[in-house]
Amino acid sequence: MDRSDREICMSAWEGAENVHGAVAPPVFQTSIFTKPSFEAFIQEQEQEHERYVYSRGANPTVAFLEERLALLERGEACKCFGSGMGAISAVLMSLLRGGDHILFVNSTYGPALEMAEHLRGFGIDHTVLPDGTSDIEPHLRKNTALVYVESPGTMRMKVLDLAAITRTARARGVWTVMDNTWSTPLFQKPILAGVDIVIHSCTKYIGGHSDVLGGAVIGPASFVRDLFYTGFQLLGSVMSAVEASMVLRGLRTLPIRMAEHERSAVRVIDYLATRPEVAAIHHPHHDHRPDDPLVKDQFSGFSGLLSFDLKDGSFEKVAAFINRLSLFRIGASWGGYESLVTAPVRPGNEGALRERGFSPGMVRLSVGLEGADSQIEDLERAFTAL
Ligand code: PLP
Repeated sequence: MDRSDREICMSAWEGAENVHGAVAPPVFQTSIFTKPSFEAFIQEQEQEHERYVYSRGANPTVAFLEERLALLERGEACKCFGSGMGAISAVLMSLLRGGDHILFVNSTYGPALEMAEHLRGFGIDHTVLPDGTSDIEPHLRKNTALVYVESPGTMRMKVLDLAAITRTARARGVWTVMDNTWSTPLFQKPILAGVDIVIHSCTKYIGGHSDVLGGAVIGPASFVRDLFYTGFQLLGSVMSAVEASMVLRGLRTLPIRMAEHERSAVRVIDYLATRPEVAAIHHPHHDHRPDDPLVKDQFSGFSGLLSFDLKDGSFEKVAAFINRLSLFRIGASWGGYESLVTAPVRPGNEGALRERGFSPGMVRLSVGLEGADSQIEDLERAFTAL
């Protein structure tokens, strides 16, 4: 983990306002910022992306978080949103026009694909590539306007060759957008690999305490400025000052938490590898040797979201396993302090999952901060009772 990243996560409030030496950033819980004259108001309204006029625009607490996230991702600028999905929708709306095509690479977050389906109604087409495909050249069309990447994806955690993807996209003048939520800016820096725009759901590791929703987009300053006046202000998925202060609190402990998520996940994976009930494990720690250039050059660490396939998986078997867990609680999200478990199987969808290349026995774990001994003990109990 980069030392300067730790400093960015810990940095004190740098706002112009006197806050009496407070160590926590002030929460500017106001919708409106008044101005001393009508002329000043007009002038600031014309620069609303960088002036404080109305909180469905810029807000000092949110801006402090945005500066930290842009620094961590080595991007020029950042805009925060009310949720990760708000960030994704805003980027798609800002970049795409009728007649465009999107290429989705790796297993994309479901609602992002639902958004792409919705966009078909506006004349925007898309293709979804099979997991793990880094050779995008044959799939680019004349009208491809953006390549949307998750690496790793958040179901089978397949890692892509980002440099190869961005080289091909750049040569064709196509934007690359990457959801970097799995790695956080601490473990992977897609912009350094040539990605144009990075998206985060701050709801996951960055917030880290399962008590706040948020999203972020990092990219070139000119793009983020355009995004502000289109996808951000017009869709109105706003991060409030209170939410920003909670995400900033999460950022303080992000380096420590990520190191612990990784330590525990590695031990859980090594334990799963000993279980006869497990047919496959999906996580870069398991899928790649440490000296594999695909992981060595792209990652400085791995997060705690992993999946594995139970042998002879079925809805009943997966449900029996999950219901026997107690430390791993059953829930939709991931990246928080608490360990969570879920699975894609539903009664009767086993065939459909197989068609999509998923094992019906897949179980997804978000390895939290309780400690690997307790997590393994919980898994052991559930396996023994199967
Ligand atoms: N990206 C990924 C990979 C996710 O898993 C999620 C949520 O689960 C999102 C984006 C959306 O984030 P949010 O729930 O904050 O809208």
